[in-house]
Order: sequence, then C-alpha cells, then structure tokens
Amino acid sequence: MRYVSTRGDAPELGFSDVLLAGLATDGGLYVPERWPLLGPSTAHTYVERAVEVMLPFVEPDLDEITLTRLCTEAYETFRHPAVVPLVQLDHHQWVQELFHGPTLAFKDIALQLVGRMFDYVLGERNQRVTIVGATSGDTGSAAIDGVVGCEHIDIVVLYPLGRTSEVQRRQMTTVDQPNVHTVAVEGTFDDCQDLVKAMFNDGAFRARNQLSAVNSINWARVMAQTVYYVTAAETFADPVTFSVPTGNFGNVLSGWIAREMGAPIHDFIVASNTNDILTRFINDGDMSARDVVPTLSPSMDIQVSSNFERLLFEMNGRDGGMTAEQLGRFRATGRLDIEADQRREYIAGHFRAASFDDDATLSEIGRIHRATGMILDPHTATGTAAAALLTGLDPSDRPVVTLGTAHPAKFPEAVERATDTRPELPAHLADLFDRPERTETVANDLAAVQALVERLTRP
Ligand SMILES: *Cc1c(COP(=O)(O)O)cnc(C)c1O
Repeated sequence: MRYVSTRGDAPELGFSDVLLAGLATDGGLYVPERWPLLGPSTAHTYVERAVEVMLPFVEPDLDEITLTRLCTEAYETFRHPAVVPLVQLDHHQWVQELFHGPTLAFKDIALQLVGRMFDYVLGERNQRVTIVGATSGDTGSAAIDGVVGCEHIDIVVLYPLGRTSEVQRRQMTTVDQPNVHTVAVEGTFDDCQDLVKAMFNDGAFRARNQLSAVNSINWARVMAQTVYYVTAAETFADPVTFSVPTGNFGNVLSGWIAREMGAPIHDFIVASNTNDILTRFINDGDMSARDVVPTLSPSMDIQVSSNFERLLFEMNGRDGGMTAEQLGRFRATGRLDIEADQRREYIAGHFRAASFDDDATLSEIGRIHRATGMILDPHTATGTAAAALLTGLDPSDRPVVTLGTAHPAKFPEAVERATDTRPELPAHLADLFDRPERTETVANDLAAVQALVERLTRP
C-alpha cells in the first residue's frame, strides 16, 4: 500500500515511513491511495480479525507474522478476554467498552499497537527516537504505556504542574521504566504545547535528539481504530448506527473508513460537549471555531478537529490542491464552507450530531445508572445521550452502538455527583495511590526544558 498526502504536495510513502513521519512535509495528513475491501473472515478472536483488517494497510512493510505478533502483544494488555466487549442497554442499544486497556481509555487500543509498531520499524532500521508530547492529563498516560518496554524509544511527556487530576498525574509518574520521563512544567497546558512546538521548530535540537510524536493525526492510530467498528458491526444482523463521543474526529473517521471497507454500518452520530463545532457543522453547515470551554469531558474539549481534514480530502474527490486551499481559507477566516452537493453526498444521511452541556451529561449518567445499573464516564454519556435523542425518532429499531471511550473511575468526581456512587479503580490500578512517583519539575522556559530533555534521554 502507498500513501498520499491530503494536501497533494508531499512524496508518496509506504506504511513504515508514514508511521514514523506523522505529518506530511506539505502539512497534510497521509491517507492510503485506496480503501481496501474486507475479505471473507476466518477469524475467531479480536486479534485475528485485527490482522485481517489491517494487513492490506501495512503490507509489504510489515508481513502477516509480524503484524500478528504485534497485535497479540498489544491486546494481551487488555483486561477483558473480548478486548472490546459489547454491553446491552436496552432492546436496541449497546455500549462497546473500549476502556479495558492499561490506562482505561480508548486511546490504548491505538497506542498499545502503535508503540510496538514504532519499536519494530526502528529496530529494523537500527534507529532510535525521542517521542515528545504535551498532555492536559489524559493522552499522556496512554502514550507512555504504549512504549513501555520499547528498546528504541524514549518518551518525554510535559504536563502542567498542579493542573492535572491526581489519577491522571499518577498514571504517568508511577510508570517505573528507564525510557519513560515525565516533566511538570510551571505553566498551563498551552505553555506545554508551545514548548513542544518550539522544540520541534528548533531544527538542530530536533535532529540531534531525533524527536518524534504519536499524536492523533498519525495514520496508524486511525487504522488501529477501524477494527472495533468492524467487529462490532459484524455482530449484528442489520447495519448498525454508531454513536461516537468526539473530539479530534479521529474515532469517527475510523468508523467512516470501516464502512468504506464494507463493514455493515448504517450511519454515525457525532456526540459533542459544549465545544460543539462539529455538531454545528453537521446540523447547520457552520464550521466556525470558537474558544475552547473546559467541561466534564476534557478529552473532547477541542475546537478544531484535525482529523476532519481526511474526510474533507474525500469530499473534494481526493484533490489535494483544493483541500489545501479550503484549509488555508479556514485558517485565515475561522470559517469552512462546503458545497451543497458535497453536503448531500457526504454528510446528509451519513452523519447526525448532538451536543450536551455538563448538566445534561450528568443527568444522562444518572438516567443510565437508574435504568441499567451501569456507570458511564462523562465522555461516553454524551454518546448515549445523543443516541437516545436522535434514534428515539427512528421508525426502525436498528442496533445502535455507543462507543464507551473511558472507564468511569477516571472521572470519579463527575460520576459521584451524578450517581452518588464512587467508581472503583480496577484491580491493576488499585494501588495507584501507594506507588512511588518519579517526575521532574521545570520552569516554563525553552532552554531549561531542552536541557532537561537532553539530560533525561542521553545515557
Ligand atoms: C480522545 C478521547 C475522545 C475523543 O476522540 P477523538 O478521536 O479525538 O474524536 C473521547 N473520549 C475520550 C475518553 C478520549 O480519551
């Protein structure tokens, strides 16, 4: 498989180069030159289906034996034998629990695999990298856990001192591995992001330390997420509606790709919190960025959904020049407009959307708890709320699967407010508060952070 950039002006690459590159040199995102079709399956397990679904995307760079080994190791870390179990809510609604991985959020599904893929490709090439990232709390731990035991990767995660929850901080700082480094910056999350950007923009520093990233635009993350759409959809006799708690659009995009590959999916519900740019776009055609508002579902507190660019490229008939132009206008004016025929072909009938503020999210957690005894986290609750609102009007009883993106114990305060029950951490994290922490604190100063990164990663 070869990959092309959504902005049409970067070299075509194979899978391994796309994996390591992240962003294309023209600023675009890599997509495969075509969508492969799902073949007949002989799979009995999640891992076996994962290999069948992903093999066409990674060949010839990774062969079937290698992909099988990497998938086996990645999904052995999940604490449920089904990896991504479906739990029934009522006669036509299910939640697919994507949070049984090591850090209790759906990002483990991609990052457990992508860390191992990085390590394999770097080992083949006899290279090393230093992955640098900023986190407001949630993605850092998934990225860290994804590279535990990787010989060719160091990871440095910056987080804002005193501004993450204790669970979030401890999930990062208690990982006792020589290649894992966490740094508390005396500043905000935006300061951390600016420091990471500045390190990448310092060409000499970037080359000397072989900086790399595993952010949500990385193609391999999107690819790994297509698998659970396929396995869930194949469970049902009728085509499925998926309701997806959405931030960067990566998760929904994976579902759209699964459907292009032939998975029996009817349509998608995009669920948002108060940061509702996608809901406004889907319902009213208004894609205009506003300021980010903090909510109870922080992993969805995003206004510009970077992975949307990959759908836009499809909507433009895979014309990279047109896509680049449209995105340039969006950056300049803060507004993105699409044509009426693009709306008809790609949005209407394929995507529905709804958004919920914190109060509505809390009452949804309470409603589901009273009805089923099940405790949802605030992200997942926006998904079930959207499913209830929008599919309550469906004349059919089509199966609806809401993606459960986080374990409720990651957000104990919100859950307790909604249900009067404090969710327990699962057994493998039960002693999280007793484990020793290892972290560094540094001033919000580029030179100081760069010196620290070099000291931490150079033996
Ligand atoms: C990252 C995340 C999301 C949003 O996923 P996108 O791919 O950015 O749309 C939703 N819920 C949780 C818990 C997350 O960690």
